[in-house]
Amino acid sequence: MTDPLTPYGNRPMVTPIVNAVNYEYKDFEVLRRITDGEIDGYTYHRDDNPTVRAVEKIIAGLEGAEDCIVCTSGMAACTMVYLTYLKSGDNAIFFHDSYGANFKVSLILERLGVNITWLTADESKDLERHVKPNTTMVFLETPTNPLCKTIDIAAARKAADKSKALLIVDNTFATPFHQKPLEQGAHMVLHSATKALGGHNDLMAGAIAGSKEDYNLLWFTRQAIGTTLDAYSASLLERGLKTFELRAERMATNAMAAAKFLSKHPKVSRLVYPGLETDKGHAISLEQMRAGFGGMMAFDVGSTIEDAKKFILNLKLIIHAVSLGATETLICIPVLTTLLYLPPERRLIFGVKENTVRLSLGIDPPEKIIADIEQALQKI
Ligand code: PLP
Repeated sequence: MTDPLTPYGNRPMVTPIVNAVNYEYKDFEVLRRITDGEIDGYTYHRDDNPTVRAVEKIIAGLEGAEDCIVCTSGMAACTMVYLTYLKSGDNAIFFHDSYGANFKVSLILERLGVNITWLTADESKDLERHVKPNTTMVFLETPTNPLCKTIDIAAARKAADKSKALLIVDNTFATPFHQKPLEQGAHMVLHSATKALGGHNDLMAGAIAGSKEDYNLLWFTRQAIGTTLDAYSASLLERGLKTFELRAERMATNAMAAAKFLSKHPKVSRLVYPGLETDKGHAISLEQMRAGFGGMMAFDVGSTIEDAKKFILNLKLIIHAVSLGATETLICIPVLTTLLYLPPERRLIFGVKENTVRLSLGIDPPEKIIADIEQALQKI
């Protein structure tokens, strides 16, 4: 029978959205090869889906990985990694400087008997000292959320090797356009694909790229707990990925322009952007990033949270919203949003203040972004 999708071999330009939950089996041998993992094939959506598989291959290619597994959100990806590789009695090294929901998941992990060492990004310089014989995972972001601090990936791998721990790098802020953690020694790289990979604020997804062996282990977890992405979101992600590199390049150019402007502004008391030569993480970022330094930055506005709020409310082009890596330029106050559930004393440990704002550059013209920031800063 002719394939209804390609009746004369004419390939559709996008991967079809396969909404099927289950598939008819024509042949027991093919069924066996699929279920044994010998071939990519489909039996039930929780196991696998062709639209999802198509984006997994694209992301694996971007990260230079053997394979990639895609799931329902960035936090699902983090949780799949924790559930797959941590067990009771293990020590895991996490960083305060990371997306806030990791703190919530850490409370669950502690209930399951995992011991967690929390470090600040600045303490990563001394990481080896914190690695214990039972440390089995080092999980880091670089640049970090929200303060855009830089952690040396190659040095972290050296430290992790002390106890043969896995090094996992959340590459959401940097994106694979600027940084390929696997080349620097990470065992796996993780994404909230909700962000720059998707890029349009219209889907949630997570991704973990690494070896084929890791794909198989993570696939087992995903299949068991049911965090397989739906085909429609996978299709949106595939579309976003077609323009990913163009968008990433533009976001970084915009970020550099905005950072240069902000660095001279009297109402900005602290600015963290790894692309600035004066930034503490610049030298390491030059080593591990390429073609720019990403589209994210953090800065302190005036001296109080009221100053930060007034600034944001006066913005006209830049949108007050969470999330990042989208075509629109987005801004938020982390203590009121992404770090809301973090006890105030924990936020202070790593330097997030009430008047710290996180800016995610979009693809708007840079002069319009700068003009918007300038007029809003004038009003505080
Ligand atoms: N990792 C980072 C660095 C993030 O910024 C986020 C969300 O903002 C996540 C993970 C979680 O992603 P998601 O919102 O897709 O679950």
